[in-house]
Amino acid sequence: MLNSSVKVPLEKCPALVLNADYRPLSYYPLSLWCWQDAVKSVFLDRVSIVTNYDRIIRSPSFQMNLPSVIALKNFVKPQKNPNFTRFNVFLRDKFTCQYCGNKKHLTFDHLLPKSKGGETNWKNVVTACSICNVKKGGRLYEKSGMILFKKPYSPSIEDLHYNGRNFPPNFLHDSWMDYLYWDVELEP
Ligand SMILES: [Zn+2]
Repeated sequence: MLNSSVKVPLEKCPALVLNADYRPLSYYPLSLWCWQDAVKSVFLDRVSIVTNYDRIIRSPSFQMNLPSVIALKNFVKPQKNPNFTRFNVFLRDKFTCQYCGNKKHLTFDHLLPKSKGGETNWKNVVTACSICNVKKGGRLYEKSGMILFKKPYSPSIEDLHYNGRNFPPNFLHDSWMDYLYWDVELEP
């Protein structure tokens, strides 16, 4: 049984997981492992410890600092093209209706309606709120008189990672920040 030096539940101390290039494996959801998996992978020599929480975990046979950031020793090749999923369409469009900017009651709109042969793919589907969706109805985008903020496109994994950074989880440990935001472009 492991004891710890501080009373914050260990369940609230996950480790941020970086790829071997020290970039997070995933931004959204943020790649986090529970402390047990983090410690186990240290012992299996699959990860390097990058930084630690300010606490020590102990068992009768060992003690160690609790890792807060770990990096895989073997590089995991990121997927080239993200899967076309409902979630990823929302993420591409930053969970925002592309017609009016509404962030609630989101659904999808086919620019070329399905009823007219429109396909369900990256280039024909946009995030839309239910009001805009009803307003556009079965009309073609060109004839609807409605204007998109951004035409739908096939995003790269990088695009989705970039957008994912706008939606950090509730808990972010200080030691994670250098690895999450250091390469975000600075505002001019
Ligand atoms: Zn809308």
